[in-house]
Amino acid sequence: MKVVLENLTKKFPSRNKKNPADVIAVNNFTFEIPDGSLVGLLGPSGCGKSTTLNLISGLLTPTEGKIFFGEDDVTDLPPEKRGVGLVFQNYALYPHLTVMKNIIFPLENLKGKDKLTKDEMRDKALDIAKLVQIDTLMDRKPSELSGGQQQRVAIARALVKMPRVLLLDEPLSNLDARLRLQTREEIKRIQRETGITTVFVTHDQEEAMSISDLIVVMKDGIVQQVGKPQEVYDEPINLFVAKFLGTPPINVFDAKIKDGRLYIGDDCVLDTPNAKDGEVYAAVRPEGFILDDNGSLTCKLKAVEVMGRDISIVSSNTNCHADAIRSIISSENAPKLGTDSVKFTLKRNKVFVFDKVTEARIDI
Ligand code: ADP
Ligand code: MG
Repeated sequence: MKVVLENLTKKFPSRNKKNPADVIAVNNFTFEIPDGSLVGLLGPSGCGKSTTLNLISGLLTPTEGKIFFGEDDVTDLPPEKRGVGLVFQNYALYPHLTVMKNIIFPLENLKGKDKLTKDEMRDKALDIAKLVQIDTLMDRKPSELSGGQQQRVAIARALVKMPRVLLLDEPLSNLDARLRLQTREEIKRIQRETGITTVFVTHDQEEAMSISDLIVVMKDGIVQQVGKPQEVYDEPINLFVAKFLGTPPINVFDAKIKDGRLYIGDDCVLDTPNAKDGEVYAAVRPEGFILDDNGSLTCKLKAVEVMGRDISIVSSNTNCHADAIRSIISSENAPKLGTDSVKFTLKRNKVFVFDKVTEARIDI
């Protein structure tokens, strides 16, 4: 089921008397979520992710715009008529009910031709429990489960009616690091096996990048960029997107373009024949630095951190916005400690240049 968002806008009235302007939580969002895909909605806290999800679910009504499931206009339908499955950060299970009864719960209210017998409900619940691998825990209560298991029950409950659209709002935030990794792979597998169109909200860029077919990067209610994770990483549209994706984060420098060349301080680091002269930001991915005795960018060496296959060189440069520049290089090329400075050549496809005013990416 494809989901179409058409000029979707949600305004909340301000409760702040000093600043009476409405909060525009989602601002003119137009997007078609392809049938059967997993879309990651990504951005910092407060950027409008949950609001977008709640508009799709029907828990909120848009101020403007429309929502379609396939060809159906669902904008005015209540949540229970939309056929959505919802999973939140806090699992919201019924503590006094067993896993089986928690999963069955959404099936008990079905009416008319959809009404199921007790056996049919149990069979359905068991099928879904197998899919999310909790079928051996059916008689337990939520308090007898780990966080990861509880979240699987919540996912099973969201899936048992075979929703047209599955909506997950930061579903892994309450899990520890290892479980988070495991559960996100599980969610990807379940999504692939069921083929249900899914929207996955997270503020964690790595999480979004690793499981999404498409990511939508938001800031202040406005969609910044939509694309495949690798495409957005490789071709960020503006400084915000470049900074939001990637660990360690991208290294941002004050720089300038002069006579078709990019300068960081006095170091001429790249030919930029397409760019106009002027002050810019230059941002370099950690993997964009090549150690080179004849390299043009000179930085002060602070530390070398061994990470096994790779090493991280921590250095500094007065033009860098952060105190530390982090560059990742293969451990075979480790610099000798004891030297004060390191020299780098930059990989062209790992360097992005941004306008200082609009912060939009400039073609170099
Ligand atoms: P996210 O999920 O990305 O953290 P939200 O969608 O929850 O962000 O919120 C987006 C913006 O809308 C925030 O500025 C938030 O304070 C505001 N907001 C969310 N819900 C309400 C509400 N019910 N009333 C007023 N403002 C709200
Ligand atoms: Mg939220």
